[in-house]
Amino acid sequence: MQLTIDLTGRDVLVTGSAHAARQAVRRFEAAGAVVHRLSTPDGADSDGPLPERPFLVAAVDDGRPGWEPLLARCREAGIPVASEPAAGPSGQVTLVGGGPGSLELLTIGALNALRDADVVFYDRLAPCAELAQLTSAELVDVGKRPGHHRVPQGDIEKLMVAAALDGKNVVRLKGGDPYVFGRGGEEVSACVRAGVPVRVIPGVTSAISVPAAAGIPVTHREVSHMFTVVSGHAPLTAKEHSHLAGLAGLGGTIVVLMGIGTLPQLAAGLRRAGMDPAMPMAVVERGFRPGQRTTIAELGTIETAAAGCTNPAVLVIGEVVRVAEANRCHTEATADLDRLAASLVEA
Ligand code: SAH
Repeated sequence: MQLTIDLTGRDVLVTGSAHAARQAVRRFEAAGAVVHRLSTPDGADSDGPLPERPFLVAAVDDGRPGWEPLLARCREAGIPVASEPAAGPSGQVTLVGGGPGSLELLTIGALNALRDADVVFYDRLAPCAELAQLTSAELVDVGKRPGHHRVPQGDIEKLMVAAALDGKNVVRLKGGDPYVFGRGGEEVSACVRAGVPVRVIPGVTSAISVPAAAGIPVTHREVSHMFTVVSGHAPLTAKEHSHLAGLAGLGGTIVVLMGIGTLPQLAAGLRRAGMDPAMPMAVVERGFRPGQRTTIAELGTIETAAAGCTNPAVLVIGEVVRVAEANRCHTEATADLDRLAASLVEA
């Protein structure tokens, strides 16, 4: 259960060791509460006089015995006691896949890691607009726009490692899944080289979810039984003819990330490699974000149809695009029937 209470100016007593309670303290301070601390049950090292009747006791589970009698007394006195998990361990890095950009597509693991973080280094494509609601951590934007590398990759790795060595619980929040064109492997290696414990929380990749946002299943029985995910960034140039021929000959669905800049070369290359110009193709821009848009054309006409498309976008090439079209027509027809039925009932 989640409640929203205005804590501005309210006395909140946070119990638990300093290390375990550090994030709870930050969170209540950020919410405007007057935070009091009790780091041992006997109050040996409390910081000054405690309020007689705090508005709330936030009991951080620091794993130490001895808190229960105090918390029971508070409950008996009618003071609400909210249990809080301990802050995450310090001195480690968690690579978190943030999904395609909507909070709804963050995993519970991602939410927990964000809540426990001391610092979050996030990318442009991570769900960054609402980050401040999810964590009290320091937020550092290391995002990149295509062609404008804000913080070079090597520097991001150095920043992450330095923060972890400094004792912080570091989250590296990335768009989609960290291991799909996300340089996650390099970041893990950097941590391992520096002796920093590191773990990875997978995310919902745009390669599958963004086509789905447009109603396109990447596989569909009797239509496509495989999908290939490629980067449109570098390898699909004209001199990679054999690569394109291989791709054209695969027969399944082709999903291209980072493909807007090279879309004309890709489409022309696939046609040269023998792919049918009537092959349906979709460009899905800003999946699960404001302004989501789908453009559907064919391999032979896509350059003109998608001329105004911009990043971030996922390209889908394959017969599965027709499945989305068919389902959309069906959904629209059903909606029409529903409207008709409703008007008949009204009449
Ligand atoms: N690790 C990411 C991909 C990073 S590469 C993942 O698993 O999704 C960046 C590319 O992902 C973008 O150029 C675009 O092709 C795609 N992308 C990411 N989020 C997207 C979104 N919300 N809508 C459309 N494309 C997106």
